Amino acid sequence: MSNAAERTSKRPSITGCFTSTEKQQLRRRLLAWYADHARDLPWRRSRDPYHVWISEIMLQQTQVATVRDYFERFVRELPTVERLAAADERRVLRLWEGLGYYRRARQLHAAARQIVADHGGRLPDDVNELRQLPGIGRYTAGAIASIAFGRRAPILEANTIRLLTRLVGYRGDVAKVKGQRLLWQTAESILPRENVAQFNQALMELGSLVCTPAEPRCDECPLQTLCVARAAGLQNAIPRAKPRQTYTDLHEAAIVVRKNGRVLLRQCASGERWAGLWDFPRFAVESEGPLFARDEIVAKVREQTGVTCAPGPLLKTIKHGVTRYRITLDCYQAEYVAGRAKSTNGTTVRWVSPSQLADYPLSTTGRRIALSILTGN
Ligand code: SF4
Repeated sequence: MSNAAERTSKRPSITGCFTSTEKQQLRRRLLAWYADHARDLPWRRSRDPYHVWISEIMLQQTQVATVRDYFERFVRELPTVERLAAADERRVLRLWEGLGYYRRARQLHAAARQIVADHGGRLPDDVNELRQLPGIGRYTAGAIASIAFGRRAPILEANTIRLLTRLVGYRGDVAKVKGQRLLWQTAESILPRENVAQFNQALMELGSLVCTPAEPRCDECPLQTLCVARAAGLQNAIPRAKPRQTYTDLHEAAIVVRKNGRVLLRQCASGERWAGLWDFPRFAVESEGPLFARDEIVAKVREQTGVTCAPGPLLKTIKHGVTRYRITLDCYQAEYVAGRAKSTNGTTVRWVSPSQLADYPLSTTGRRIALSILTGN
């Protein structure tokens, strides 16, 4: 009988405890597997705390394949905490453009300034001090402290949550306090005394490559004899599935207002969906039909920018998703009629030539509109 099957039969209500022998087996097998299977990722080529930090923030809610190029460009352009702190926000957001969740970039920028002001430009090596910085929670603090500084700090992110939940066979809700407490305790209890950096990365790598969300590859897993979910045949049922996401349909409009060859941009205010990014005047469409095409465009553009425009034809329609919204975005052309572009409610409004659009951080759909302007498609 495997260790896991024994644990399952002895303790059907799982507590997440491993014996000392099991912990040793787990550490040894996991580290051996990682030595053979670790991917060559750009942020793994050094243990520079700045690189570890940038990669961990980028990897939140974003796939490794997407992050690779962004990471390399970001650290090439802004290679140190000091350079990041000294950069203006527009440049930071432009480097982040397309990664989404732009709050991460603004917090990263704020944290860099705090590190320079309070820590002489060096990231602290202590979990509690790291957690005082904007955008660094328990997981990110543990990742930086363990990977960059070798501190004995546990980590828990999407891949390790799934892996540990299956290993201990936890059938409850991992998002609830009880589940989180159990998983953090488990993550802490299995940490080795040495090689913590490798160990934590190995946990994430195994979760990402082998203990996948659907159809985990248990036959290739170095921890298969320790895994309660596998012993019980529950690897596809654990963790418990999240409730299905329900989507809300939205209809929005973006307006490309032109004046003497330039177009009107506004910077999104804090509290808006793309706070800090620049955008064409954009709003939720409240009315439908031909009346919308004139009156609502004129009123909303004037409200957002102070400019009166004469709406023209539809440029294009873009369908896209943002979090739980499915959005149909109609992009209209318009000509300037009157009024001064005025900055209101924390936003800046500016006339920009098409060639300057490359300097401004835009949302993904904003960039598609910008490309249409440049190419005429
Ligand atoms: Fe995940 Fe399967 Fe390995 Fe268990 S045996 S940890 S379910 S891959």
